[in-house]
Amino acid sequence: MKKPVRQNGGGTMADHPKAFPKTFTASLITLYPEMFPGPLGVSLAGRAHDRGLWQLDIVALRDFGVGRHRQVDDTPAGGGAGMVLKPDVLAAAIDHASDKNDQRPRLLMSPRGKVLDQAYVRQLAEGPGVIITCGRFEGVDERVIESRKLQEVSIGDYILSGGEPAAIVLLDAIIRLIPGVMGNSLSGNHESHESGFLEHPHYTRPQRFEDREIPQVLLSGNHEKIARWRQQRSNQITHERRPDLLNQENKKES
Ligand code: SAH
Repeated sequence: MKKPVRQNGGGTMADHPKAFPKTFTASLITLYPEMFPGPLGVSLAGRAHDRGLWQLDIVALRDFGVGRHRQVDDTPAGGGAGMVLKPDVLAAAIDHASDKNDQRPRLLMSPRGKVLDQAYVRQLAEGPGVIITCGRFEGVDERVIESRKLQEVSIGDYILSGGEPAAIVLLDAIIRLIPGVMGNSLSGNHESHESGFLEHPHYTRPQRFEDREIPQVLLSGNHEKIARWRQQRSNQITHERRPDLLNQENKKES
């Protein structure tokens, strides 16, 4: 990324996300804006950003904090450990990131959410963008989830210290599906989880590594045989490692 991403309040009208309804725009509400673009600023996602294929709009939650100390959190009602992000502060930040006609889904990274999968990623990638709120501490006040209709999204059954790494995972998965981002669009369709199966193994030169050879069939030049071998290996690996995926496929067919 050559240009730094826009911080809250910065930029001109011309580079405001609402001025480009067709470019996939991720607005990100975070207490730690310095974590972005992070990994999204390099390699595939970073190049795609530089080519104008997606935009990142960082909203610093602290700017919406209340009082002299710009407070963003408070102790949990009913007692207990940790702090809770305040609903008024979050709502102000979310409202700043969007407008009345904003069609983008409002997401909250949360271990209680719908667990992210490739179908969900694809659905989000086909839309106009996302407004992502990153939680911290014990989480966020329930009332802002209700009032701003936040969809809770989890990246798996484990607990992170904050929503930022989860947002990076989500955006990385989305960005590679935005049209024009991946050079060879065919490679995307064969990935694990796209077809409902895990992918076959890969090999490259040298032909002999330590005492291991590349499977002969891959050197045969017979494309039909190669396709069949790959399909068989893909089936076998899915059976061994993720039989639950096969059950899902069967359900879809019946
Ligand atoms: N007390 C909460 C966990 C808070 S973890 C609970 O038990 O449900 C702090 C923040 O990290 C959360 O608000 C959320 O934004 C983020 N987070 C943690 N684990 C996550 C996960 N698996 N997926 C997405 N976000 C997660």
